[in-house]
Amino acid sequence: MTSHASEHHSVTSTLSRNDVHPVIIIGSGPAGLTAALYTARAGLRPIVFEGEQPGGQLTITTEVENYPGFIDGIQGPEMMDIFRKQAQRFGAHCRFETVTEVDLSKRPFSVVANGATHYAETVVVATGAHAKLLNIPSEPLYMGYGVSACATCDGFFFRNQEVLIVGGGDTAMEEAIYLTRFANKVTVVHRRDEFRASKIMLERAQKNTKIHWRTNAEITEVLGMTDEKNRKSVTGAIIRDTRTSVVEKVKTDGIFVAIGHEPNTSLFRGKLRMNELGYIETLGHSAFTNIPGVFACGDCQDHVYRQAVTSAGSGCMAAIDAERFLEANPITYASTTADRELASA
Ligand code: NDP
Repeated sequence: MTSHASEHHSVTSTLSRNDVHPVIIIGSGPAGLTAALYTARAGLRPIVFEGEQPGGQLTITTEVENYPGFIDGIQGPEMMDIFRKQAQRFGAHCRFETVTEVDLSKRPFSVVANGATHYAETVVVATGAHAKLLNIPSEPLYMGYGVSACATCDGFFFRNQEVLIVGGGDTAMEEAIYLTRFANKVTVVHRRDEFRASKIMLERAQKNTKIHWRTNAEITEVLGMTDEKNRKSVTGAIIRDTRTSVVEKVKTDGIFVAIGHEPNTSLFRGKLRMNELGYIETLGHSAFTNIPGVFACGDCQDHVYRQAVTSAGSGCMAAIDAERFLEANPITYASTTADRELASA
């Protein structure tokens, strides 16, 4: 048991025990659904609010080859269906609703979704993050078919090909270097001629002879084609010079967008402690947030690893922390619904 779990917070609630769920999980990526699996197996009947993107970021990728256990790889959406079914098998209740409001100021906590208020003894926040995208109309058309926001996930598919990578920060440098393991030529497209990346990362990229540079440049359009089997692929891009506005068509097999990530944590601003980038802070090697009984896992609290497997791992941590916290911090209820009904009869 962690030291956080043993902190005792005795609470008496005027709500009925029957109206309060032991665990509400907000988010349904690998972190949320793993937390659901573990808390369901612990008999805690978790409610999962799946949010706007049920299954999370993996549902916008194609093949996942780096999740252990799937020897031939698996499609991202299919993997998340399996995660969900596995949690449901043990009694997790998944709701395809988005949480719009939370009150974490007192236990039981409250969560509003679809206009209804739900109460919980513990809340697991697993709202994830989203990659910032270029926001040009042709980008979503080729997402997963040559446009990617994750070199670790998709770099492998570009063996002996040519790719562009957009961005001038550490992520762009790191991913450009990583992509040279597969691609013959990686061109960094950056909108300025100065880089936000740390000196060491920039120099490392600059020393790599497979990396080429296109500064003062931005992609304004993704070009692609659809073959006779209805498969889409990227064939090029339109690049605009940010100083002269001159546009040029370039050939490429893939476009990686590496312009940063943003955690989906606006719902918790001012309510949970976060770092300056908006990632929820967890205490030590645990899923505890600064509010006892509220746990965070997955990409909403991790800007470093951001992998399905690490998210799932932290979802498991959140579930175990929540389970132990519930044991150590029971809520005393004034009545049950049955008592109240009896009283009002
Ligand atoms: P950053 O915010 O540091 O960099 C984002 C880059 O993308 C900038 O160069 C920015 O350009 C560019 N950009 C942003 N929006 C657009 C847009 N709409 N169109 C074109 N370009 C755009 O994000 P990172 O993900 O690179 O890094 C996030 C944090 O994680 C940093 O603190 C970084 O140091 C850290 N990190 C550390 C690593 C390591 O140490 N190994 C690896 C990866 C990340 P501009 O500069 O003009 O604003």
